[in-house]
Amino acid sequence: MANYGLVWGLFLLLFSHSAFSQTKYEQIKAGLVQMASKNPQNARLIKIGESDANDSILGLQIGHGPVNTLVVATHHGNEYGSTYVAMSLADNLSAQPLTDQTVFVIPVLNISGFNAGQRRELARGTSWDANRNYPGPCGTEGPFTLKSTNALAQFIEAANIVTSATLHTYSPFVLYPWGHSTHQTSTPYDNIFIQMGKAATVESKYPVGNSTQMLYPADGTYEDYAFWKHGIWSMLFELGDTHNPSQSDLKTMAEVNVPGLKRMLAMAPKTRAINHQFTGQCDVRGRFFDRHDE
Ligand SMILES: [Zn+2]
Repeated sequence: MANYGLVWGLFLLLFSHSAFSQTKYEQIKAGLVQMASKNPQNARLIKIGESDANDSILGLQIGHGPVNTLVVATHHGNEYGSTYVAMSLADNLSAQPLTDQTVFVIPVLNISGFNAGQRRELARGTSWDANRNYPGPCGTEGPFTLKSTNALAQFIEAANIVTSATLHTYSPFVLYPWGHSTHQTSTPYDNIFIQMGKAATVESKYPVGNSTQMLYPADGTYEDYAFWKHGIWSMLFELGDTHNPSQSDLKTMAEVNVPGLKRMLAMAPKTRAINHQFTGQCDVRGRFFDRHDE
C-alpha cells in the first residue's frame, strides 16, 4: 500500500473546515495538485467541465497505458467516504500506476453538494439527484439537467473509457448492471461482472451482486448509462457501513478497497462490451422502491 499521509492530512482538513476560509472542494483540489506535483511523471491534473455553480470539475489522469479507465466518486454530496477512497486511490496510483492503462480519477462530481454536505446538487433553483440524471432504458429524472452529469457523459465518450467504477456510501456492496426498473436484470456478461466483483472484494469481503436485486431499482444512474450507452464495464461500489464514517472507518475503507479497485481495473476486459443493449421489459413500478438514500 502507498502511504496515506497526504490524503490523511486532507481528511483532517475536511473535518476542521470551519477553521478555514477554503471550501471543502478547494481542499480536494489542493490535494490533487499536490499529488500531481509529487509524481509529475505519472499524474497530471485534468478538468472535465464546469458545474452549475461554476466550479471546475477536476481529476487526475494517472499512468500512460493505452486502455483508458475511470473511477468517479461523490455523485452524492454527503458521501464523503467515497471521496476519501477516491483520493486514496489517486495517491496510490500516482506512485504506482497500472502499466497497461491510464486511470482517470474524479473524486467529486457533485461539488456544491459536497461543499454543503448534501446528497443532491443544485441547478436552476432546484435540486437534483445526480445519480438519477442520466438517460436510461426505463426512464430518468433528467436527463442532464445538471452540467456535471453532462460533462461526465461527454468525458467518457471522448476519452473512450473502457471500464469504470463509481463510488458511493454505504451498504456494503459491489454491484453490476442492470440496476433500473425491470425484472430482466441479467446481461450477457454476468459472469465477467461477477469475476470483476470478486477481484474487487478480496480484501473487503463485500457482497457482489446485481444492482436491482441487491439494493433497489434506480432509473437514470451513471452505472447503467455507461454500460447501456457505450458497453463500458461499469461497477458500482457502496462502500463501508455508514454515510458518516469516522477517521478510523475511512482508513479501513481505503485499506480494503484501494487494492481491490486496482486489481479489478487490472483484470477487466481491455475493450468495451459489444452486446450492451437492454432487451428486457421495463416495469416502472420498481421505481417506487427507489429509496434515494445510497
Ligand atoms: Zn450514493
